[in-house]
Amino acid sequence: MLKKYIRTFLLFLNCAAYIYGQTDYLIFNAINKVSVDSLKANLRILTGIDSFYNNGQYKKITSRHKECPGNVYAREYLIAKLSSYGLKVDIEEFEEDGENIIALQKGRAASNSYVIICAHYDSMPPTGYAPGADDNGSGTAAVIEAARLISNYDTKYSVVYALWDNEEQGLRGSNYYATNAALRGDSILAVINLDMIGWDGNNDFKADLHSDGKPLTSLLADEIISINKNYLINLNIELVYPGTTRSDHYSFWLQNYPAVLLIEDFYSPKETPNDFNPFYHSPLDQMWRINYDFYKKMTQLALAAISFRAEIFAEEGQIPLVNILYQNYPNPFNSSTVISYFLANDGNAKLKIFDLTGKEVASLVDRYHVKGLYQINFAAEGKLASGIYYYALITESGSEIRKLLFLK
Ligand SMILES: [Zn+2]
Repeated sequence: MLKKYIRTFLLFLNCAAYIYGQTDYLIFNAINKVSVDSLKANLRILTGIDSFYNNGQYKKITSRHKECPGNVYAREYLIAKLSSYGLKVDIEEFEEDGENIIALQKGRAASNSYVIICAHYDSMPPTGYAPGADDNGSGTAAVIEAARLISNYDTKYSVVYALWDNEEQGLRGSNYYATNAALRGDSILAVINLDMIGWDGNNDFKADLHSDGKPLTSLLADEIISINKNYLINLNIELVYPGTTRSDHYSFWLQNYPAVLLIEDFYSPKETPNDFNPFYHSPLDQMWRINYDFYKKMTQLALAAISFRAEIFAEEGQIPLVNILYQNYPNPFNSSTVISYFLANDGNAKLKIFDLTGKEVASLVDRYHVKGLYQINFAAEGKLASGIYYYALITESGSEIRKLLFLK
């Protein structure tokens, strides 16, 4: 069943307030913790920049292709990582040389229904150096990041963090899993497949969401598009239907499970030329080429979508909720800009603007707030001179500060 999205909308002068439910607070909180440093640390190991230590020796992954020792090393590293979050990790062997990594976070209320976040961990080309940073170190590290964060919460439904082997040989790992899931009669509520989520060569934040157009997949895709907006992730998502059959979500389509592919602007039929990663399947698919602003948002969207579907929850006090001050948009701006802030508790809150010397130049908000998300439209024209300013959210629990740039 789809959870109903409950949101109250209030309008003040130049200010909108959104009062969310408890699950939403937890999702805001979880996606705010997605860390580029943590994604990078995993990519450094998956692409062979850093070694890792396991079973008494240091190992370096120069290729994750199925014929290479790095494929085995990658598996050792990923298993250790997922286990470190307290998840039960199984290896699913298939054919003569394939090994999927399946980590389970058991649901508290309906553990026989599964929400799956997945990516293939093998890489190309078949010989020599194959760092596969975007394809698909990016998806793999995002699944690890989701496991790191969601494992702190309870979930109603079970969450499966799956990393497929031998995708590059014809979706062999995911096909084995999906076929057996269907034979077992597994109830799979949603599959989110991440394959190449780090390339944005033109900084347009455009991403593709691939659907097979069946009713349950369409509902899932619509839900993800709403989540992108409601949790202020703000990627530029294009729904692609009919979607490509060239990644692991297709194995689930074949078994009539609801599944989507989230991918950078790779296949999109409507735009020519696409923002295709020119280093795809080459030794030049290296992590310094990743657009980390884009990659972070892609990870946040996947994490929010999984948390929403699995219905994360927490006991009072289990997760300390924090206030969030968002980057203003647009920025730089020449007349007005929107500042959003999220308050985790009821109480007084102030939003003020300071110049670089620390002198207060404007007070935008100073009043009691009910916890929730607030957006204020700030018209700077006639009030400020061109330049860089700080804006601060000040509450009893502390303050958050960001910079904005006003250009007349
Ligand atoms: Zn791939």
